[in-house]
Amino acid sequence: MTAASHRPPALDKLLDSGALPALIRQHGRAPVRAAARRALDDWRAQAPTMPFDATAFEAACQAALDAAAQPALRPVFNLTGTVLHTNLGRAVMAPEAIEAVVAVMRGAANLEYDLASGARGERDDHLEGLLRELTGAQAATAVNNNAAAVLLVLAALADRREVPVSRGELVEIGGAFRIPDIMRRAGARLVEVGTTNRTHLRDYESAIGPRTALVMKVHASNYAIQGFTASVPVAELAALCRARGLPFVEDLGSGSLVDLTRWGLPAEPTPQQSLAAGAHLVTFSGDKLLGGPQAGLIVGDKALVQKIRRHPLKRALRLDKMTIAALEATLRLYRDPDRLAQRLPVLRLLTRGQAELTAQAGRLVPAVAAALGERAQVQVRPCRSQIGSGSLPVDRLPSACIAIGAPAGTRRAGRLPERLAEALRALPMPVIGRIEDGELRLDLRCLDGDAAEAAFVAQLPLLAAARL
Ligand SMILES: *Cc1c(COP(=O)(O)O)cnc(C)c1O
Repeated sequence: MTAASHRPPALDKLLDSGALPALIRQHGRAPVRAAARRALDDWRAQAPTMPFDATAFEAACQAALDAAAQPALRPVFNLTGTVLHTNLGRAVMAPEAIEAVVAVMRGAANLEYDLASGARGERDDHLEGLLRELTGAQAATAVNNNAAAVLLVLAALADRREVPVSRGELVEIGGAFRIPDIMRRAGARLVEVGTTNRTHLRDYESAIGPRTALVMKVHASNYAIQGFTASVPVAELAALCRARGLPFVEDLGSGSLVDLTRWGLPAEPTPQQSLAAGAHLVTFSGDKLLGGPQAGLIVGDKALVQKIRRHPLKRALRLDKMTIAALEATLRLYRDPDRLAQRLPVLRLLTRGQAELTAQAGRLVPAVAAALGERAQVQVRPCRSQIGSGSLPVDRLPSACIAIGAPAGTRRAGRLPERLAEALRALPMPVIGRIEDGELRLDLRCLDGDAAEAAFVAQLPLLAAARL
């Protein structure tokens, strides 16, 4: 037998035969041709002495095309127990926000156009009224995220001048946002005040000099300093700044627009409280507790906001129409605080009670157990969720999870939690849990609503094939 009889048919012939015409209709000729060429190359490299197997060849083409057709950015089930998970996209948005985004994406919008006069308008106009109404600020503007808001405030108001900040507030958020770095990038000079655990008003007093541009306070979002501590209340710092004729800026980080204790959640400072206590400017995120899209909001004194708007960085950091649409629709929900917990997904998820979550876990355990069979033990377990994104770092919310561990009678779980986590991540809609105490835990706080629950259950049978 000669090697020639093992040769596959020519590429063009293959493209016209078997399952390939159907794949071409689905994916287009160029991608199928490229996949077929790679499958042929692989066959030549791996099995050149075997007869050509058309079925295996078609399956290889199909698998490669399916993999390439998967979007890189995909929806996942966030069962980590962290509601505002930065790596998983933070806030889940309200239907009102989603509809508003879709509407402006479909066609033209009055993004910078004033419908009353027919003249040029401002992007900020769509948000400023609502932000003023909700926070009590004189003026407001918005940029791409809160890091950008802080950068812009410093660049516009503190160029080559000094900004005193307490040593206890020199935060790093998510690895890339560090107050000292942002200061440098903005061209401002950081003046460290006080000590890590205690900073007093007199420390600020002695730090303020002729080169001071403003005083900044940064909310300790993702950590807590406990024990022998002291920090200066916003009202006292604001009064000091007023007496010295300096702007006082507070970076609140999350900055909820409502008092969360109303729903039994831990207290988080609001921009309205900060402004009422005398802050000239407050910055906060759009996609943390506010529950909207990624954005950075700057609210406060009119003359300062105007100065910020005129800085060239504002143009570089500006919001697009989709974000403005989502943010406006989200802010509108705050006009009716009584219905907020039903309408704003972030608040709804944070206020789900442990009894409801335990019942849900009980409902789902049989389906998970059936999918895993003898390979694992599946139980309902109480657990604690986190708010996340640096919001309220030490507070935990009582929750319930599906806990998956070694089968009964086996003492050690071995690699089971990691293998299971991998299998769950490989599902069509990946499921992200957390590994704790030798178990994989799926916190149900963010699996909200019948549709989400049904979608979660529907793909469980695919786990039957997973090697655990
Ligand atoms: C989260 C946070 C930031 C950064 O906000 P992004 O919207 O993520 O850019 C800045 N400062 C504080 C105090 C924060 O908590």
